[in-house]
Amino acid sequence: MSLSEIQARIHKAEELAGRSTGETQLIAVSKVQPNERVEAVLQEGHRLFGENKVQEAAGKWPDFLEAFPDAKVHLLGPLQTNKARQAMQLFEAIHSLDRPKLANTIGRLAQEIGSCPDLFIQVNTGEEDQKAGVLPSEADQFVADCQALDLPIVGLMCIPPVHEEPSLHFALLKKIAERNGLKGLSMGMSGDFEKAVALGATHVRVGSAIFGARDYG
Ligand SMILES: *Cc1c(COP(=O)(O)O)cnc(C)c1O
Repeated sequence: MSLSEIQARIHKAEELAGRSTGETQLIAVSKVQPNERVEAVLQEGHRLFGENKVQEAAGKWPDFLEAFPDAKVHLLGPLQTNKARQAMQLFEAIHSLDRPKLANTIGRLAQEIGSCPDLFIQVNTGEEDQKAGVLPSEADQFVADCQALDLPIVGLMCIPPVHEEPSLHFALLKKIAERNGLKGLSMGMSGDFEKAVALGATHVRVGSAIFGARDYG
């Protein structure tokens, strides 16, 4: 699907939900994609991208950012504390803040560096063992702890379980965000971004629908 088709579908979903057109930010998830495809989307004028791994992003984005200085990259995948400094220098936002140790490290580095990317707290809405994120029942306390550290928490992020209706998870995330006074909602991927927009997503993270299937071979 082309980038403009995805944008059109997002705008349509916003309209149907009674939201303002253009309210939802489209993060083009460029992880694992060949550089030519990423460059083509940059050439088309898109400027907001998402990556899953610090190392991979550090390998390709410095060159892209030199050619397209107004492009921005968000980190969507798990972050190890020993890569936090590098991540804070490379990314405009981190969507995967998921534990106290990482919050403490980012807080300390933010003091030292004098700036901090926007932060989304990842919530494990499906309470899956293999998935990162704080549990829904722990989210309010974790938001408060992060705010006590002066971290710029802009919202929440979730990745619903594969075989469940995503709308239930999007609605839960929205509810937790609202009761904590957070505006940002990072939710929705290639298969379900319209449902996420309908439930108030501020950021949808769309990879394969824009770039084609990822080739991990
Ligand atoms: C890979 C990834 C996406 C994009 O997934 P698609 O199904 O290709 O749209 C979104 N969010 C996260 C956290 C991801 O890791």
